[in-house]
Amino acid sequence: MALITGGSRGLGAAIARALADEGASLAISYASSEAKALALVEELKARGVRAEALKADPQQVEALVNEVARRFGRLDVLVNNAGIFHTGVVGDPSTDIEALDRQFSVNVHGVVAAVRSAVPLLREGGRSISIGSGVASHAPFAGLGDYAATKAAIAAYTRGWARDLGPRGITVNLIQPGPIDTDMNLATGASAPVRMAGTALGRYGQPEEIAAAVAFLASPGASFVTGATLDVDGGFNA
Ligand code: NAP
Repeated sequence: MALITGGSRGLGAAIARALADEGASLAISYASSEAKALALVEELKARGVRAEALKADPQQVEALVNEVARRFGRLDVLVNNAGIFHTGVVGDPSTDIEALDRQFSVNVHGVVAAVRSAVPLLREGGRSISIGSGVASHAPFAGLGDYAATKAAIAAYTRGWARDLGPRGITVNLIQPGPIDTDMNLATGASAPVRMAGTALGRYGQPEEIAAAVAFLASPGASFVTGATLDVDGGFNA
């Protein structure tokens, strides 16, 4: 049974489809896109798996995890995917500081709360997989510091949690995507050509290319992988 935060669209929806193809029961959370989340649930059910959508905000992550455990009776895989993206050059008076603080709350506090709540429920073989970003370890443009810091925090937590949970047979890993064509980072956007040029492959990735990596890390084949950061970025950080 897998919980995917932020599963209504983008990477989360692709991850849900990939895990459904592996036969997993699925809970997806969303912030505001209820119609998209419910449509995805119907699609996942048509693939033959149990699926439910739950609305959540950063202050309700613990309640979300506990509600999933109550409904499904177990939790095997937690995918920390929900995230938001705000930029701002440090010291620029037009920077929306509230938005940057909200970003830290969703991207860091939300993940920390999810993992803390999930840990008592995970058993031997359990998985925590977070979606970071290549900009945690490489600053390609101005204005990314706050977003990059949220993702770098999750990279550090990943290594720490892997040490904490290893003795219980639970693995904790991080995927760092490069530019992926979603609402957050449209391949048709104004800055897309620069981002594409920053990859070795010279293109955007597709959500399915991240989902495949999540499916691997959730699979029995990844049983000896923990504390790892996997760049799935077309060579963005090469
Ligand atoms: P997206 O298309 O904007 O989708 C974001 C998803 O997160 C949506 O399902 C959204 O729900 C959900 N969400 C946002 N805040 C939430 C909250 N507080 N609680 C629950 N769900 C919440 O973004 P994406 O590109 O798929 O990004 C997914 C993850 O990948 C993020 O962590 C992002 O930082 C990371 N990432 C993306 C890229 C990229 O190029 N796309 C690159 C590196 C890393 P609603 O639909 O209800 O708003």
